[in-house]
Amino acid sequence: MSLTFYNTLTRKKDAFEPIDPRNVRMYVCGPTVYDYAHIGNARPVIVFDLVFRLLRHVYGADHVTYVRNITDVDDKINARAADEGCSIRDLTERTAQQFHADIAALGVLAPTVEPRATEHIDEMKVLCAQLVDKGHAYVAEGHVLFDVASMADYGRLSNRSLEEMEAGARVEVAPYKKGPMDFVLWKPSKEGEPGWPSPCGIAGDGRPGWHIECSAMAGKHLGDVFDIHGGGIDLAFPHHENEIAQSRCAHDTDIMAGVWMHNGFLQVEGEKMSKSLGNFITIHELLDGKTFGGSQWHGRVVRWAMLGTHYRQPIDWTAERLQQARATLFEVAEILHGVEPAEAPNGEVLAALSDDVNTPSALSIVHGLLKSARRNPEKRPELKATLQFMGLYGDETVRELDPGRSDSDVDAGAIDELIAARLSARRDKNWAEADRIRDRLAAMGIVLKDAKDPASGEIVTTWELAR
Ligand code: AMP
Ligand code: ZN
Repeated sequence: MSLTFYNTLTRKKDAFEPIDPRNVRMYVCGPTVYDYAHIGNARPVIVFDLVFRLLRHVYGADHVTYVRNITDVDDKINARAADEGCSIRDLTERTAQQFHADIAALGVLAPTVEPRATEHIDEMKVLCAQLVDKGHAYVAEGHVLFDVASMADYGRLSNRSLEEMEAGARVEVAPYKKGPMDFVLWKPSKEGEPGWPSPCGIAGDGRPGWHIECSAMAGKHLGDVFDIHGGGIDLAFPHHENEIAQSRCAHDTDIMAGVWMHNGFLQVEGEKMSKSLGNFITIHELLDGKTFGGSQWHGRVVRWAMLGTHYRQPIDWTAERLQQARATLFEVAEILHGVEPAEAPNGEVLAALSDDVNTPSALSIVHGLLKSARRNPEKRPELKATLQFMGLYGDETVRELDPGRSDSDVDAGAIDELIAARLSARRDKNWAEADRIRDRLAAMGIVLKDAKDPASGEIVTTWELAR
């Protein structure tokens, strides 16, 4: 099986050719840990988890190295710790733990390595020194700055020339910068801020810029050049552009990573998700609270809803999307709970995913498989293997998939009407309609029981909540 991925660097879908198929290497920018991750942050985590699973399937689980970092040194972290009156370490530890718990519920596998920025300060300092030595960076007023004019093709990822960027730059430029687009590799720490002895002969403590953190962690764990680098589209510029500048110039290479993959943005009910608009939803709230669509949502439901849209498209996060995903998962649980999975996932689904992670197409094939597995138990093991492969189903019961439901949430009148309609369809020998109604009830988490009344010989249908 061969994979293709859309590459932001080449602006087209390319066949994926790993540098070393015995060690396929991927780096994804992870969270800055100062607050609960929101569902926008969950998107790259889920998307690149699926890429990781695909790579493991094709090259073997032991031949893939996936690095997703934790950014635990950042201005937002300092500010939040000061607000809360806690230590930076307490804040970052607590937030990293919350993050792990949240994404585990989303069916996300642990990456091979999860490096923390604060544990790679030495590597960052080495990069600063190398870049100064090679004439790509300079020291000014306690800062180390990258000299973008020293790099012939700065801007290749975002496809913009330095002139265009400079013309568009509206920020006030610090007087010690040689060029307006020069960016910080290292900066002095103020009183009370975290700091480490500075590199490049600078007196006093300082701390790294954000971009150098990822260059250092990727270089340490994946080498100078690796296969895939991922993150949200907002990171393409300046973060990834600057990672590329640092890593390529420090290591004298033509590329940092061969493929650059970016997920699109997540919006809520048609609006950009942001704190100021008050439409900011954390993963934690979706899983535990009752703040979205009046319901508590299981992690598998969230994952299914997320993968309904192709990763490069923007996604509109609605309660309806979650309800549909949940209805499908109810049907899945009804027929697949306890079923032994087959050895391998379905080939058509794999083919769809290997074409630039086409999850909408994969899920529409899954819907077809679900329909036939409902009628034909022999089809169930393969469907189960497929859903497990995608991280969409972990053998939960209907009850587990809807942790907030109570019996009083059910509209018994509506169910009785559906049952009556089904009986009448059966009397008319309209089996397709009868089955359709049964599926609809299954999607509501309702199981039907048909029994023959011994006295009259009539079929009597009762219902109960699926367990
Ligand atoms: P941050 O902690 O802000 O650096 O973001 C962590 C990851 O989440 C990055 O890959 C971002 O690109 C991504 N991200 C942040 N907001 C969204 C959003 N609304 N939709 C999709 N991805 C996002
Ligand atoms: Zn990064």
